Amino acid sequence: MASVFVVEDDLQIRELAVRALADAGHVVRAEATAMAALQGIVDTAPDVVVMDLGLPDVDGSDLLRMVRAVSDVPVIIATARDEEAEIVRLLDAGADEYVVKPYSGAELEARVRALLRRVDAKGAARTVTVGGLRIDLRGRTVELDGETLQCNRKEFDLLAYLAAHVGTVVTREELFAEVWREPYGGADKTIDVHLSWLRRKLGETAAEPRYIHTVRGVGVKLVDPS
Ligand code: CA
Repeated sequence: MASVFVVEDDLQIRELAVRALADAGHVVRAEATAMAALQGIVDTAPDVVVMDLGLPDVDGSDLLRMVRAVSDVPVIIATARDEEAEIVRLLDAGADEYVVKPYSGAELEARVRALLRRVDAKGAARTVTVGGLRIDLRGRTVELDGETLQCNRKEFDLLAYLAAHVGTVVTREELFAEVWREPYGGADKTIDVHLSWLRRKLGETAAEPRYIHTVRGVGVKLVDPS
């Protein structure tokens, strides 16, 4: 069972999709417009999104881009048969799967199930270990020497990004772009504040670092202290 978010403006197709997925035991939410869907996806963090391309307010490909800016949720795009070039473009743009209209409820449910299996298989390997630090990227949990660390969203994103680049100096500009998704303002202390919180949780200080090392004038790197 998973939570599935359906974005579809056609009432009949939406009802078919919701019924088929709910009958298969999924928790289903649905919206008819892109903007309502974007809000709903942010609010409910579904396991899978099924997205119609022809929406009344915002083009499906623009909605996909907006969803990708805030979430890694797996996305199935639903499209008409004659849009093959568009399908390729959308898969390149971050869609995970597609289903061709008109689809049956059974077909949609099979696509959702297959995608969840794929994501779970990938998720099993999506754990990064650096020394005594274990970061579960899918479950968004962090353990240090077997103890769970409570991290807020940005702390987790920051740590995960550093862990993905272990041993490499990451610049502030890069962290702003990749973790905060904002251009670096220069005098901004946001990164320093989050780094100091993280260091406290890791039981270290900037003066006596173990995992998080500042490289003055360049950036910061995560290292295996063992
Ligand atoms: Ca439509």
